Amino acid sequence: MLAAANAGSLSGGSLSPELAGLLVIPWIACVRCGQLLGRAHEREPWGDLSLLPTHYVIVHLREPAQPRLFPPTALREAFATLKACR
Ligand SMILES: [Zn+2]
Repeated sequence: MLAAANAGSLSGGSLSPELAGLLVIPWIACVRCGQLLGRAHEREPWGDLSLLPTHYVIVHLREPAQPRLFPPTALREAFATLKACR
């Protein structure tokens, strides 16, 4: 079962070196296992987040050091991975 994620934004660098300098915005959560699908964004020079994400990220808050990263073209795959649960 999926629900809107209500966690606060995460520092990308705390999840993966590949996400350093990015902000991960939790988006959709799996209520059953606690995984989150988030969007990683760059911060624009004017302080806002980039319109398009640089990655989709699946992170389990129990194992935040093992995120799964997807390129911005792979939303369908990221969503399927979230729905597959674990
Ligand atoms: Zn799940």
